[in-house]
Amino acid sequence: MRLFLDFDGVVCDSVGEAQVASHRAYCQKVLGSSADELSEDDRARFISYRPFIRNGEDFVLLQQLIREGIQLSSQADFDRELLRAGAATMQRYRDAIYSVREQMLAEDRAGWLALNRIYPHVRAVIDRPAGDDRCFILSTKKAQYINEILNGEGVRWPATRIISTEGREKVTLIEQTAGGDNEIHFVEDQPDHFPSPGERPAALHCVLATWGYIQPQWLESSAYTTIGPQEFADFLDRLLSR
Ligand SMILES: [Mg+2]
Repeated sequence: MRLFLDFDGVVCDSVGEAQVASHRAYCQKVLGSSADELSEDDRARFISYRPFIRNGEDFVLLQQLIREGIQLSSQADFDRELLRAGAATMQRYRDAIYSVREQMLAEDRAGWLALNRIYPHVRAVIDRPAGDDRCFILSTKKAQYINEILNGEGVRWPATRIISTEGREKVTLIEQTAGGDNEIHFVEDQPDHFPSPGERPAALHCVLATWGYIQPQWLESSAYTTIGPQEFADFLDRLLSR
């Protein structure tokens, strides 16, 4: 058995940090101005568009789209904007958000940590997978930040079991890490990281976390096996007690 947990939207509620960091990145690093106040409307729009996000640079693009008043009603709308922005711009946005994060960590570490909260129902049971060599965190976020957040909340999850994709496909990393294991569980809140059923190894069980940054229609679709916050402790218990 191997268990892979996504970080943002599964272990950690980080939308507050993403909002602040990407807003500063867009204002300071892209526009070259100081970061103004975000309106309540813009904050609400950012949260409602959060399910379209796959990695850090996407948040900066989202700030640009909100500022330009572009309405997004689907993942396809967002992906069209990603294509329009192009790889060079997205690399610049990636550099921008990571440099702002470094700055925030250097200037106000406690403030930065406070913007990232481990979900209470996850915090209650996370020490168990943290201490189990069969469990991994698998995220598009840099491992260093995941480490900081977990340490900040007193979770001792070894760095050797925190995997950052660094541009690689999650499923590729799962196969590299757990290849050959006959039972692999992968808990995510962004089903785009799930391989399509035809390409999915038989041993791989993909589970959608309902407490994450999800689109309501995903819950109505029979395509996904879901897990709710009340089921998480039992789910871990079932896997790890063996
Ligand atoms: Mg996620």
